[in-house]
Amino acid sequence: MAHFDGPRNKQTLTRRGFLTALTGAVATAALAACGGTATPTAAPAAIAPTAAAAAASATATQAARSTIGATTTTGPTSTTAAATATRATSPATVTTAASPVASATRAGTPVAATPARQINVAATTTHIQDFLKNVGVNRITINGILKPNVDPHDYETSVQDAQTISRAEIIFVYGVGLDEFMDKAIANANSKAPVITVTAGLTPLKGDDQEPAGDPHMWFDPTLAQKMVLNIAEGLAQFDTAGAAIYRQNAQAYNAQIAQMGTQVQAIYNQIPREQRKLVTNHDAFQYLANRFGLTIVGAVIPSLSDAAEPSAQDINDLIDEIRAQNVKAIFAESSANPRVAQQVANETGIKIIDNLYGDTLGEPGKDGDTYIKMMVADATTISNALK
Ligand SMILES: [Zn+2]
Repeated sequence: MAHFDGPRNKQTLTRRGFLTALTGAVATAALAACGGTATPTAAPAAIAPTAAAAAASATATQAARSTIGATTTTGPTSTTAAATATRATSPATVTTAASPVASATRAGTPVAATPARQINVAATTTHIQDFLKNVGVNRITINGILKPNVDPHDYETSVQDAQTISRAEIIFVYGVGLDEFMDKAIANANSKAPVITVTAGLTPLKGDDQEPAGDPHMWFDPTLAQKMVLNIAEGLAQFDTAGAAIYRQNAQAYNAQIAQMGTQVQAIYNQIPREQRKLVTNHDAFQYLANRFGLTIVGAVIPSLSDAAEPSAQDINDLIDEIRAQNVKAIFAESSANPRVAQQVANETGIKIIDNLYGDTLGEPGKDGDTYIKMMVADATTISNALK
């Protein structure tokens, strides 16, 4: 069940570099926000897809003014969002000292003012860490459990993760079984922090033996990612009511960026001749992508929703037959996965292997897939260039 049977030995992975980088990125975003430059670009109304977030646009300035000086003792008990805090046995005891500071308004755009204290947030996957960064901006400090290039399937938490969890005031998990390692880790850390499941309320595609809760790779559909962003905003808003309007406004603006990305990515896939829009991937991570953007999944080297599974010789032979029958032009492997078997199949069929798709994790800071939006564009570009 070990996720990486190749060179990616977990013990060689150090988390410190990532955390430092992430903290730095947050700090940068916060600084930029103070200057008003990090406020996400407002998108044309026509492509803003999220009715729920629209309610959030209710003047952040007004909301902030009405709560100035209020000491917030908040709990997620009355959440109306799909996201629910399941483990907070006594949510009313959760106190945020993040005293609200007046929002500045510049040319009608709300700017999150620096709160007196940032909320300590723990989050599992790199995708939801990025969503949180865009929604929470400078009101939160994000401590990531998973780092870039570490695949979440079958991840085992470390001692440092236990410390991260025990210090967190609010914990965001992905759900759909992908990060169920957190159940035990949270219990072991004796954490009473609210736990927000980012995919709550979303219906996944059917699962398999390895991922019985459903196909967890929902971020590949931007419309589902937008719902996750709204869940995150509601989770933060319930916890930190003083920032509620800001979180909702940030979510709306970020979701508009996601919608723009979706349009851009569709145009990239449309460059592939229709009969060549066929994917063979390393593991079954790309069904949501295929459904959303009109691609066909011919097969996967590892015929499972988890790349912890091992293909049989028969599986590999069947895939080779299918690749030949359908004249598939390339195999796509993820940057985080061991491409050994994919390479074997590519060698036998004489087709190329593209091994730098972003799947279950974002890229390292500075890479072209180091944010969710960049990852989606990078994958579309990689796939399109290989198939057209
Ligand atoms: Zn996966």
